Amino acid sequence: MQIPTPISPDALVIGAGPAGLMAAETLASASHRVHVIEGKPSIGRKFLMAGKSGLNLTKDEPLTDFIAQYGQAASWLKPMLAEFGPPEVQAWAQSLGQPIFTGSTGRVFPKAMKASPLLRAWLSRLDTLGVTHATNWRWQGLRDGALVFETAQGQQTLRPACTILALGGASWARLGSDGAWATGLAAAGVGLAPFQPANMGFAVDWGPQMAPHFGKPVKSTHLTAGPLHTRGEWVISARGIEGGAIYMLSRALRDGYPLVIDLLPDLSHTIVTQRLEKQGKTSLSTHLRKALHLDPTRIALVHECARSAHGQPQPSPAARAKQLKALTLHITHPHPMDEAISTAGGIQQSSLTDGLELRARPGTFACGEMLDWESTTGGYLITACLATGRWAGQNAAQFLKNR
Ligand SMILES: Cc1cc2nc3c(=O)[nH]c(=O)nc-3n(C[C@H](O)[C@H](O)[C@H](O)COP(=O)(O)OP(=O)(O)OC[C@H]3O[C@@H](n4cnc5c(N)ncnc54)[C@H](O)[C@@H]3O)c2cc1C
Repeated sequence: MQIPTPISPDALVIGAGPAGLMAAETLASASHRVHVIEGKPSIGRKFLMAGKSGLNLTKDEPLTDFIAQYGQAASWLKPMLAEFGPPEVQAWAQSLGQPIFTGSTGRVFPKAMKASPLLRAWLSRLDTLGVTHATNWRWQGLRDGALVFETAQGQQTLRPACTILALGGASWARLGSDGAWATGLAAAGVGLAPFQPANMGFAVDWGPQMAPHFGKPVKSTHLTAGPLHTRGEWVISARGIEGGAIYMLSRALRDGYPLVIDLLPDLSHTIVTQRLEKQGKTSLSTHLRKALHLDPTRIALVHECARSAHGQPQPSPAARAKQLKALTLHITHPHPMDEAISTAGGIQQSSLTDGLELRARPGTFACGEMLDWESTTGGYLITACLATGRWAGQNAAQFLKNR
């Protein structure tokens, strides 16, 4: 698609991630001329990156459970997800010729397990709908009410009738989403919650005995952090802990709750105590391996968490059992925001109408990760980006109709 000159669309969508592309599809389906502008040399870079881990599009679960995953933003997003939630996302992917499958935990993926075929089909649909786009156009902010862009042809200024901002969050800046848009919007009177990492790993100051376990998965544990808990796999790295189960708890860990690990979630405290009582003269490691079938990585975690108790008398079997079922791992801080799968913070609900239009700038709508909501991984991120993109597109179409 070439850059039309002069650009005279009904609506300009800035940011070509899933939210912006869905807004463009919705507007173009309502017969509006739409032009998409992207700061990077190509479209959907973070979406393609999400595809490297299989592209978890959504989760096949009842809408009430699904919506609850958005925490404080659940009631805000509810009408949007009720219209475009898990069943609609699945039907949409299939309408783009992408067969999908649902894993044992309900997570839904394209069978291709990557984003590129879906993105190709989507861009082809947008092309058919007459959507044009320009890449390497970076939005700089507002000047005298106009949108200012830095482009290879120099600075460009546009005054579209309607604009949709879909600029993403503030992680993985190299893929385009650097959160730099926040400064310009704050200056325009838009209320913003500070960005924070979401779905990220955490640093741990490991003792030297942990080195052989770097890169190893930790299986069969139940993790708790404040009100959140999960049972799933996570990974020990030289820098700390990461992986799906840690991301599930990252909001609570970020808020300062300790990480509590049940190394033996399938055995009761009484059974663990009984097995520990038979220890005899064997070493603790041998006993944990033989009587409780703990693998070397989980045994190393026991020693790691016992470091602070060094020099103190051995705990009784009952006290040891309690420890094995509630090991507290000391984490120091979250990994840097740029490494996070997503970010919390962004445009506050109070700065938007129910139709996602900026109160400070009528005719400008916002959607996707740049809004102030967060959720765990599991398909919730992409689904909310698509749902808010569609909602913003629908309301922008209504705005154009009412002009
Ligand atoms: C490694 C990884 C794996 C992930 N896996 C999953 C997954 O399996 N399932 C899931 O639900 N989510 C996943 N996510 C999260 C998901 O990719 C994002 O939540 C989603 O892409 C956000 O969509 P968006 O359209 O709001 O923003 P983005 O996809 O970030 O798109 C925003 C676009 O705006 C452009 N832009 C930004 N600033 C400017 C500017 N000033 N001028 C012009 N253009 C600009 C950016 O270049 C970018 O293309 C993953 C993320 C990562 C990093």
